[in-house]
This record gives sequence, C-alpha cells and structure tokens, in this order.
Amino acid sequence: MPETIFSKILRGEIPCHKVYEDQHVLAFLDIFPLSHGHTLVIPKEPAATIDQLSDEASAAIGRVLPRMTRAVLAATGAKACNILQNNGADAHQAVMHVHFHIIPKFVGEVPAGQGAGLGIGWKAGKLEGNAGVALAREIGARVQ
Ligand code: AMP
Repeated sequence: MPETIFSKILRGEIPCHKVYEDQHVLAFLDIFPLSHGHTLVIPKEPAATIDQLSDEASAAIGRVLPRMTRAVLAATGAKACNILQNNGADAHQAVMHVHFHIIPKFVGEVPAGQGAGLGIGWKAGKLEGNAGVALAREIGARVQ
C-alpha cells in the first residue's frame, strides 16, 4: 500500500475539512469539488482499491455512506447525487487509497465558481442472452 495524501490526512499531518469520523471511517470535503458539497468518504484501513478492502472496513463504509449522503443532500439542498468510486489509474483513480465520492447534482443555474456535479458519458452495449448466462456463471463462481 503506497503512502498517499489520504494517509497523511488520516494521521492528521495535513488538514482537511472533516465532516464525520468514527473508528473505521473518515469523511471530509473534496478540495477540488465537482459541485457544492462534494464529499469524500474513506476507510481508515489502508487499501488502495475496493477489491483489497476487508469485510469489516467495507461494512463500516456501507453503514456510513447513506447517512453521509443524507447529510450532504440536506446541507446543500441538492435533490440528486452520484456516488462514485474509482479503482485503478485507468478508471480515473488519482489517490490510491479507497474513497467514495458523494457528488451532489444540481440542475439549472449554479452559482459562479461551482460545478453542477458529475457528467457521465455512458456508452452502453447490449448483453445478449447466452453470453449473459455464461458471464454471470463465470463471475458467480469466483465470489468468495
Ligand atoms: P479519484 O480520482 O477518485 O482518485 O479522486 C481523488 C479525489 O481526491 C479528487 O476529487 C481530489 O480533488 C481529491 N483530493 C486530493 N487531495 C485532496 C485533499 N488534500 N483534500 C481533499 N480532497 C483531495
């Protein structure tokens, strides 16, 4: 697990705008927000990507994410949001410590200097019946 900026935040070596903390989880404001209220939720466990995260840390994140999302929506007045979680540089992960983005989405005018939220280019394919059967079996067989 490489040293990251989030390790330094967790150790208190660099500051953050803390929103929430418990034994397993820290949440703080993203320093380059895509929209007003953009918040990061991270496990204290040092895992680079989600496939490396323990069940205990995963459960702690899962318990907290809906509560954090409710708080972000309530504080910003946003009616919608995206939860984003990138794994690997090819998937746009810049900080190699697991983190979940809570990104409020605003429609219409936003104040100057604020973004509207996440824009998604979603070029979907089509899952054909037989391929789907085989693929679901392949993945299912590897769930541990
Ligand atoms: P990702 O591309 O999913 O790895 O996102 C990393 C996020 O961390 C980006 O949205 C950055 O703006 C954010 N970030 C990087 N450094 C800091 C920092 N010191 N405090 C708060 N957020 C940060």
